Amino acid sequence: MPTIDEELERRSLLYSLLMPVMSQFVPGLEKGKGMYFLFIKSECKTPGGLVARPVLTSYYKSSHFKERPYDPYTNYTSPNETILCSDSYQGMYSQMLCGLCQNNEVLRVGAVFASGFIRAIRFLEKHWSLLCNDIRTGTLNSQITDPSVREAVMKILKADPELANFIEQECSRQSWQGIITRLWPNTKYVDVIVTGTMSQYIPTLDYYSNGLPLVCTMYASSECYFGVNLNPLCKPSEVSYTLIPTMAYFEFLPVHKNNDTTNSVPISKSLSEKEQQELVDLADVKLGQDYELVVTTYAGLYRYRVGDVLRVAGFKNSAPQFNFICRKNVVLSIDSDKTDEVELQNAVKNAVSHLIPFDAHLIEYTSYADTTTIPGHYVLYWELSVNGSTPVPPSVLEDCCLTIEESLNSVYRQGRVSDKSIGALEIKIVEAGTFDKLMDYAISLGASINQYKTPRCVKFAPIVELLNFRVVSCYFSPKCPKWTPGHKQWINID
Ligand code: AMP
Repeated sequence: MPTIDEELERRSLLYSLLMPVMSQFVPGLEKGKGMYFLFIKSECKTPGGLVARPVLTSYYKSSHFKERPYDPYTNYTSPNETILCSDSYQGMYSQMLCGLCQNNEVLRVGAVFASGFIRAIRFLEKHWSLLCNDIRTGTLNSQITDPSVREAVMKILKADPELANFIEQECSRQSWQGIITRLWPNTKYVDVIVTGTMSQYIPTLDYYSNGLPLVCTMYASSECYFGVNLNPLCKPSEVSYTLIPTMAYFEFLPVHKNNDTTNSVPISKSLSEKEQQELVDLADVKLGQDYELVVTTYAGLYRYRVGDVLRVAGFKNSAPQFNFICRKNVVLSIDSDKTDEVELQNAVKNAVSHLIPFDAHLIEYTSYADTTTIPGHYVLYWELSVNGSTPVPPSVLEDCCLTIEESLNSVYRQGRVSDKSIGALEIKIVEAGTFDKLMDYAISLGASINQYKTPRCVKFAPIVELLNFRVVSCYFSPKCPKWTPGHKQWINID
């Protein structure tokens, strides 16, 4: 995604709008701190010598973030050094430690996406005993080797046996319900994005936070930042974003509801002549209508389809406000990964070649983003027909899992390898006839027999249950797929 220096200023402007909005609804936030789990990712160089890195890494490494003047609204428990640490374990450990040490000062907690925040809770579940030890003694354990992180943490860490005992007592209770409000008792809300695919994490967040408000403050992308939520305490299902018109030139392509293209063929990022004629300006969108967002950015994208579908939910004065409806084509997502139907299809196609020697064939498949495990993982339900006399050995099905992972995009593989934000992919073999049962079920709900197509991803709980009930065996990817930063074709270029 091309970007330019001045874009950082524009993005900082959008960030600067968030707390003034928030403090209209939650007073007193300037009296304490935010505990946010923020991370950088690795970067690489393009063949032309430009830096390529995720947008948030650019922002955290910029002077806009690092040298921000003191402001009670951007006062975080995590020192910059812990956010800028390139080792994700050390970054997470040190941010959690600093958050625990300042537990009574914390008024809000969060991460960018819901998945990241849940990962932090999971980290605490695994490592609380080590963390308590450091708090009890006021020393930082030797696993934290980054000198700048050590120095920054030691400015905050003081021996506090009473706090260590308190944390130990809370974490060793059988139930972790309400752990956020127990350990950080002054927390007023959880600041994470739970709109779009992240809504799958709402029940888990409600459990850990005892139903604190889940606040989605902004809507943004690598291409450009879009807008803010002017009513941040509303329910997640009612969140709407007001686009900030100076972020880019926004146009809208009407989505015709009767030709459901949301999950069909891949869309090109550019518009046809006819589509260009259909575009509507920000000032002309109609209440209740769905649109695909099209941006022309300062960095050079021209009439570029972001891939998101938005619905006009209302107006603030004359400014339209949009519900995030979905991302076109995305079927699976756990963290920042977005896998579309075509990618999934190709990955499955590559994997089934392992079945040929056993005269086994894939009859049907579907997929599910299983977020009941932490981290979540992709599950594929496979119905096989085995004609050969030898059954398919488990190791071959494990190879199928790995081949699918190897075939998925770099963001997915980075999540598996570097961020550990995605768990090993699983194939669940279902008994013969399962997909017929799935069709019967869809038809019983009113689907047309003529037009029925096996969904390539399932979300509806009764369908997931129907599939799980017929699982005969499960296989996991035995190791992580390969991943290096940047595009494959850049690897050998210095
Ligand atoms: P990326 O460019 O990888 O950062 O992804 C940007 C995409 O993430 C957007 O185009 C949306 O599909 C999704 N996204 C970002 N912010 C939100 C939000 N607040 N609610 C729902 N989806 C979001």
